[in-house]
Amino acid sequence: MQDDKIIEGELWTENDRISYIGPAKTDADKKFDREIDCKGSLLMPGLKNAHTHSAMTFSRSLADEYCLNDWLHKAIFPREAKLTPENVYWFSKLAYADYLAGGITACFDMYFHKYDNAKAAVESGFRHVFCGAANDYGGFEALEQNYIDLNDYDPLVSFKLGFHAEYTTCEDNLKFMSELAHKYNAPVYTHISETSDEVEGCKERYGITPAVLFDKMGIFDFGGGGFHCVWFTDEDRDIFKKRGLWSVFNACSNLKLASGITPVYKFIEKDMNIAIGTDGAGSNNALSMFREMYLDTVLSNVETHNAAAVDPFTILKAGTTGGALCMGLYDSDVLAEGKKADIIMIDMNKPCMQPENNIVRNIIYSADNDCVKMTMIDGKILYEDGNYTTIDLDEVIRETNKLMKGLSDI
Ligand SMILES: [Zn+2]
Repeated sequence: MQDDKIIEGELWTENDRISYIGPAKTDADKKFDREIDCKGSLLMPGLKNAHTHSAMTFSRSLADEYCLNDWLHKAIFPREAKLTPENVYWFSKLAYADYLAGGITACFDMYFHKYDNAKAAVESGFRHVFCGAANDYGGFEALEQNYIDLNDYDPLVSFKLGFHAEYTTCEDNLKFMSELAHKYNAPVYTHISETSDEVEGCKERYGITPAVLFDKMGIFDFGGGGFHCVWFTDEDRDIFKKRGLWSVFNACSNLKLASGITPVYKFIEKDMNIAIGTDGAGSNNALSMFREMYLDTVLSNVETHNAAAVDPFTILKAGTTGGALCMGLYDSDVLAEGKKADIIMIDMNKPCMQPENNIVRNIIYSADNDCVKMTMIDGKILYEDGNYTTIDLDEVIRETNKLMKGLSDI
């Protein structure tokens, strides 16, 4: 991913790390537990889902055809009030199964009942980075303890400070957020400028946009970023650029909730830090990074009338390396010796991946989850040829459907 370089040869892993990448070589002293003939398929860094609400798989196709405001208040918040830790445990596992089948090796997840979610992540072998979800309805009182506990829970789990959004968080709570960032010199992440109503509401309350407000309050003094960034002004982009903040795009969710289209090309023109996420299954409804990467590449063409507005390799980097750096996974960003073995295999023998005129373009414009042959996290194969090694999918389907009975009728 560093320079669009494809190496023909071998990749070795040892424990949780990549130990060799290069031309095929024989080493008589090396004993492997397993050797895999990739048959011309492609190994690449796992896709990083840099904004999601994993346990929202419960709301998939449960409440659609709403705009964001009605969707949240009529369909989602009343159901989330009834969600139990057991719900979050099982519905997160369903999301992990979906992520693994789609070549996703880490997620940046904003939700609640985090300890039960962490248990599901570790049992599944999934790399889970939590983002604080605090707002005026709750979460701020536990935020610091979550930060301490979940950064010391398991090597697969980490926690970043975060809050839901400006429109759900009063000024006092925003001040508290800033103080906590300063106490720990920590980056902060939040939903930002997702809809034009959100930006207008913030201007009515404070006379400025959310990005300018958070910047003024010192919330971004130690970095961080924002999810969606659809309605950013040039000034907002300048702030994010100046501070090296991450803009995370969620094209499917923004289209489905009628929120708008992020002008991805404007972020690339400024050489900003960008990453990609699916958002939750309630607003997407798929959890496919391939679908996101396709839309993030082509949607700018509509506004610019320029079919070359966004370079596909820039988007592939955002979906892999960018996501890893955004969520602090500095060892999972590229395939290189010494890096974490968070690797996927793309089946180049699928009809949609042939001919190999340009592999990057094939991935962005033509691939889908069906092209993922193998997903490895931390040196362990968790998904291969449609089978899971840590998740009992039949059990997950049985349990989640049972739990839906308490959630569907509201
Ligand atoms: Zn979201």
